[in-house]
Amino acid sequence: MNSNLSDLLLRWYDRHGRTLPWRVKGGAHPDPYIILVSEIMLQQTTVKTVIPYFERFIKRFPTIRDLAAAPLEEVYLYWQGLGYYTRARSLHATAQTIVDRFGCVFPQNKSDILKLKGIGEYTVASFLALAFNQPETVIDGNVIRIICRLYHLTEPVEKIMPQIREKAAALTSRDHAADYASAIMDLGAVICTPKAPQCLLCPWKGFCLSQGLKELEQLPNRSKTAKKNKSGYVYIIRNRQGEIFIRKRTEKGLLSGLYEFPWDDEKPLFSEYSPQDTGLGVSHIFTHINLSLKIHTLQTEDVFPGGEFVAPENLCRYPFSTLMKKVYQKFLNKKTN
Ligand code: SF4
Repeated sequence: MNSNLSDLLLRWYDRHGRTLPWRVKGGAHPDPYIILVSEIMLQQTTVKTVIPYFERFIKRFPTIRDLAAAPLEEVYLYWQGLGYYTRARSLHATAQTIVDRFGCVFPQNKSDILKLKGIGEYTVASFLALAFNQPETVIDGNVIRIICRLYHLTEPVEKIMPQIREKAAALTSRDHAADYASAIMDLGAVICTPKAPQCLLCPWKGFCLSQGLKELEQLPNRSKTAKKNKSGYVYIIRNRQGEIFIRKRTEKGLLSGLYEFPWDDEKPLFSEYSPQDTGLGVSHIFTHINLSLKIHTLQTEDVFPGGEFVAPENLCRYPFSTLMKKVYQKFLNKKTN
């Protein structure tokens, strides 16, 4: 039964699987570097968002040697806007490890790969499947949703993870692991979607225990954690020459390693300089926080610790987060209005 399901899925994939810039059909990708970059970019980010970033990134860093030799700051520039910047740092560090320690040859065993930065249990499974056709079982949100629906598992996901893993492993194709991993991702992305799944087009429609049930969209059963709302302040600080003060964030934590205009997610800063409230604000959604910032301006010749004044035309040379880009864009729009 399991091999039957797996064959049905592989046949469906052969005809309907998506064409993606990091994908080959019919076996493992010949270049594990391509799989490494795409898998790290795809962590917490959708395929649609990743595609243009991936294409730009690979054009600039076509081989693992190119990436390892590049300065981290430049890697950030090619990552900016994609979010979760620790991934860029980890990918860069991993490229250096593979060049320096493994002589550019990717390790093919779990324990060595898990020692690389940015690669956890999920990524190691998909990496080994996609790059080396090893029969590893990929478990992500798509797979959890499909398995819960296929076997009508209604208990909270946290409670039944071992059961989900076991069922997903039993379905995984031994001989066509790379294609199977891509196929189940595609099934989750285009057919067994969170809302309005296309059951009539599903290769597993005759076997699925949830098909046609009213509560289908409620599966998987996940507890919802509410995001926290935070409101803070951000400051565009200019000197007499019209230069703008920026600083680099520390190498740890949210938006680490990127540049920013000074901000705080709770309290006002620089009260001794009497900042002007522009009346503008930006909002941004992080994984656990809805953040809104009020934009203030101030003028001073003082250079604050950890930062520098930069001419506005040179700001593009520094990697900024999407949040900071929104802040600057709002500020510019106000100036030109
Ligand atoms: S039949 Fe419907 S619910 Fe079942 S696996 Fe296919 S798309 Fe998902």
